Parts: sequence; structure tokens; C-alpha cells
Amino acid sequence: MKYIDEFNDPALARRLLDEISATATRPWALMEVCGGQTHSIIRHGIDQLLPEQIELIHGPGCPVCVTPLDVIDQALEIASRPDVIFCSFGDMLRVPGSDRDLFRVKGEGGDVRVVYSPLDALELARKNPDRQVVFFAIGFETTAPANAMAAHQARRLGLTNFSLLVSHVRVPPAIEAIMTSPVCRVQGFLAAGHVCSVMGTAEYPALAERFGVPLVVTGFEPLDILEGIRRAVRQLERGEHRVENAYARAVREDGNPAAMRMIEEVFEVTDRNWRGIGRIPSSGWRLTEAFRAYDAEHRFDVGGIRTEEPAECRSGEVLQGLIKPTECGAFGTTCTPRTPLGATMVSSEGACAAYYLYRRMNGPTPQAARATREEMNPVA
Ligand code: SF4
Repeated sequence: MKYIDEFNDPALARRLLDEISATATRPWALMEVCGGQTHSIIRHGIDQLLPEQIELIHGPGCPVCVTPLDVIDQALEIASRPDVIFCSFGDMLRVPGSDRDLFRVKGEGGDVRVVYSPLDALELARKNPDRQVVFFAIGFETTAPANAMAAHQARRLGLTNFSLLVSHVRVPPAIEAIMTSPVCRVQGFLAAGHVCSVMGTAEYPALAERFGVPLVVTGFEPLDILEGIRRAVRQLERGEHRVENAYARAVREDGNPAAMRMIEEVFEVTDRNWRGIGRIPSSGWRLTEAFRAYDAEHRFDVGGIRTEEPAECRSGEVLQGLIKPTECGAFGTTCTPRTPLGATMVSSEGACAAYYLYRRMNGPTPQAARATREEMNPVA
């Protein structure tokens, strides 16, 4: 299959691994920003195949994991209302709020529906004019254009019963927050290819220069990731810090200008809380004043919620690359995909879920991994 099989070739993978080994003369710590890349790394055992000097640190790039607890609690409150149809992607349903999750709200009679696009939610609003339809609009630069398009379409259609509960986050300010942390060990980044396919790479040279780190735009297949590592290590060994595009089949320097125009028409930059990490300046988007009528937080007046995180969950440290999931005492015991204490164990891009699926007790059988995946997403 074009564009998949070519990037799984074991002989080429061996060659790249040999080249990385020959290049690395001392220890280097690289962060893969995106949870999709984390899953690919753990699933294919890339971290175990690399020479000892190369450490991969898992980053905060999982949209489900970083959606803050107060917004999850807002979602739970809105979804509990009898006049509301609450729409979300499947992996948000098991994400724990302060005292329950959307799956439980659904079990208690809430009209919570799994959709595959915000435009599905828009269609529901069109067909149910007597109900309020709310879409849970989370994610990075990758999902923002479609959510912006939904708000745009709702206004064009004159829908008054559609709104978005928005919790969008942006990658470049997160990289800045990681690099300015006093405990940061990251020396180079594998930048998420799908994010750059939307936003381009224009924001990255300033970050590479300011922090003296290579930023290599990287895809998601095993050879993509090995090539990203090879280029980052080569730069580090040469004392360079540039932006390189190792995902040219999907990423252009100016990204997707039409998608960016749609985002800029509907959203404006704002400060955002990241679950487990805290507030990062200018790290999110919210609806502009012109689209405020489609903002569920305003429509349902759910500000000022008090939240409570489970004390034993260390997902904030996992998301900042400070510990590996298996270093958490609850991993695989009190915290599993069926009984998650944190979002990183639920999300299909969460680091704890990746280790549970592929690394638990030296890796479960393929059948067990399949069953665990079904466990993680029972209603999708
Ligand atoms: S294993 Fe569970 S409790 Fe531990 S950090 Fe991950 S999500 Fe939190």
C-alpha cells in the first residue's frame, strides 16, 4: 500500500538505526511532541532498538490528555442537561472528570453521542431544532480548522441550537514552556508532522534559535520516526540547531493557508490551562467575539467550576516527560484503561495507554492488545 508499506521496511529501518549508532558519540535526549508518535515508537519498539545514548522523552502532544479538568467538568454538566445532545469523539467519553466521566453521564440518561466530525454534530442540530447540540471541540492545530468550519457553517445556516465547547491548544507555546522549565532535559524535538501540515513551519525557526535545539518535522510511520531521529542526532553532533522537514510528503513551509484562514476567522489566541501542566500563555484558541453566540461555555454559563484531581495520578509528570508511565505506582494496578485515573491511560494517543497496550509484562499478545483497545473505546 503506497505511503504505508514503504515506511515500514525492516531493511531500511536497520540501515537508519546503524547510521544513528554510527553518528551518536554521546548521550542525547529528544522529545517526540505528539502522542501519535509515542504510540508508534512504543508499538514498534523503536526506543528499545536505538543505541543506548539516544533517549526518547514523550511529550504533551495528546489533545485528550491535556484538556483541562475544569473543561471536562463543564462538559459533564452540560451533557447532563435534558435539553442537550452532547457530541464528542469516542476517546473523550472515558476521560475522568472530578467525579465521573461522559460514559457515566450517558449511562445515567444523558444524550451523549459519539460523532466522527463536528459536521456530524452540525447535522444533528439541523435535524433537532428543539434540542441544543453541543460539540466538544478539543485538539491541536490539526482539528481546529474543521471545528472553525462548523462554527462558520452554523452561522451561515442561521442555526441557534448549535455550540462548541472549545478547548483548543497550540504546539509552539508548549515547546516554549517545556524549554523554559527548570527541569527540562530536552535537547531536540521531533515536531508533529500533522500539526505542521496545517500551520507550516514558520513559527519554529525562532524557537530553534532561541533555545539552541534542532526541530525536525517528523511523520508517524517507523521509518519517518527513525529518519527524524537521524536528522536530529546529526544536527546535535554538528552543534547545529535548525528546522528540518523530514515529512515533505505532507508538510509545506506555509502549511495549509486555507485552513489557517478559517482558523483565524473564527478563533483568537488565548492563554490555556493544560491538564497536569498548568497555564501556558498564548497556548490556546477561543471563539472570537463575532462567534461568541456559538460558545457553549457562555451559552450554558458553566464558568467557575471547582475541580479535584486524583492524588495518585502522575500524568502531569508523564506529559512533561519527567517520568515514564511505568514509574507511576498506579500503572497497571489501580489504573488501567477500564479503571483510568488519568486521561493519559484513556486516550488513544496517551503515553500510559501506549505502555499498557504494548509494554506491559514485556508486551501482551496481539489478541490482548486488541481486547485492550476495545476496552479503551467501548462505544465507538
Ligand atoms: S498510570 Fe494512570 S495514574 Fe499513573 S500517571 Fe498514568 S494515568 Fe495517571
